[in-house]
Amino acid sequence: MARLAQTAGLTDIQREILSTVRDFVDKEIIPVATELEHRDEYPQAIVDGLKELGLFGLMIPEEYGGLGESLLTYALCVEEIARGWMSVSGIINTHFIVAYMLKQHGTQEQKDHFLPRMAAGEVRGAFSMSEPGLGSDVSAITSKAVKDGDEYVLNGQKMWLTNGGTSTLVAVLVRSDEGHPEGTAPHKSMTTFLVEKEPGFGEVRPGLTIPGKIDKMGYKGVDTTELIMDGLRIPANRVLGGVTGRGFYQMMDGVEVGRVNVAARGCGVAQRAFELGVSYAQQRHTFGKAIAQHQAIQFKLAEMATKVEAAHAMMVNAARKKDSGERNDLEAGMAKYLASEYCKEVVEDAFRIHGGYGFSKEYEIERLYREAPMLLIGEGTAEIQKMIIGRRLLEEYRFQG
Ligand SMILES: Cc1cc2nc3c(=O)[nH]c(=O)nc-3n(C[C@H](O)[C@H](O)[C@H](O)COP(=O)(O)OP(=O)(O)OC[C@H]3O[C@@H](n4cnc5c(N)ncnc54)[C@H](O)[C@@H]3O)c2cc1C
Repeated sequence: MARLAQTAGLTDIQREILSTVRDFVDKEIIPVATELEHRDEYPQAIVDGLKELGLFGLMIPEEYGGLGESLLTYALCVEEIARGWMSVSGIINTHFIVAYMLKQHGTQEQKDHFLPRMAAGEVRGAFSMSEPGLGSDVSAITSKAVKDGDEYVLNGQKMWLTNGGTSTLVAVLVRSDEGHPEGTAPHKSMTTFLVEKEPGFGEVRPGLTIPGKIDKMGYKGVDTTELIMDGLRIPANRVLGGVTGRGFYQMMDGVEVGRVNVAARGCGVAQRAFELGVSYAQQRHTFGKAIAQHQAIQFKLAEMATKVEAAHAMMVNAARKKDSGERNDLEAGMAKYLASEYCKEVVEDAFRIHGGYGFSKEYEIERLYREAPMLLIGEGTAEIQKMIIGRRLLEEYRFQG
């Protein structure tokens, strides 16, 4: 039988990496994921294993000690990891976005300083755009940096930092009016600062506080936090790329590859939900036969599998487009939108197939049911994806009358 979500045209190296990751997921993640998630426990042993596999440096160039792999390889690994436990893919996702932004936009000194230690998993990245008053509308950011000699002084409050506590390097987007006259478009007066800090909670650097973990309905294990800057002093050489006013574009570039990553997570969670559903449907009997033999359940399985295939194909297409050096915002937006919506639907169908047992914490589907909604929100909601897709369509299909 053809298995779902296969990818044609992979190199031997890609196949080998994927098989190693899949093996790790089956042996080290799936057996412990639900228990750790219920305890909201950080999966330290799993993270150590990922470090050993070199996953923190998967896309970092070889000259900095990484594996120099493509976005496609990365996304396929994320899909496998999310199949095991979505939170683990969240631990590497923000790290990956920050490493990508450094690789694309950092000064040579910044790359030399951070990338080798990021590849080894010693420095771990988080990124911070959202604030208590905004998420979708990034241009409304109010946190501010003011120049003071060779330093900038940062003030403001940030919200929803994935890995806010465990990370040691946060890419923070703030408004920096210096050099930008009154009336400059909001997105042209934003700067990304590379903020180094101690891991943990409380005052992790003078002027920088990580108050504690936000209590969430799912996506547990991985820490999500606020970040408070109160007179935080950052040297000018920690402006990403060395020039102020480019932060918005740098972050959007990072989020674009992040969207492929979230699509891959949706694919992984949906695959796991399908696996659980198809397995349960063959074990549970009603009215004298396995429920898989009732046409209504078979139709559900058919719909779920079709959605898994479609989402995988779109995610792979978006990753390949970026790897070819082309703009991929349309494909990434579509893949993120479709994969997250389908993920939610496939998970719900697998939950229904489980009947009452899906509601029991003993069954893995209960965890997936609480995890899937996060993918509808992170890296831009469905409405934001549709805005991006719509704008791009009107560019491509401009009326020529
Ligand atoms: C678990 C978790 C982890 C996160 N991790 C990070 C992180 O690491 N770093 C980070 O910076 N952020 C992170 N976020 C924040 C996330 O990116 C935002 O929550 C998301 O962008 C939505 O923003 P919001 O919550 O402010 O919703 P809002 O922007 O207030 O939107 C509310 C609703 O209005 C809709 N809406 C908004 N504007 C429009 C419009 N113009 N047209 C139509 N509908 C609209 C939205 O789609 C949504 O349905 C995380 C969030 C969560 C829940």
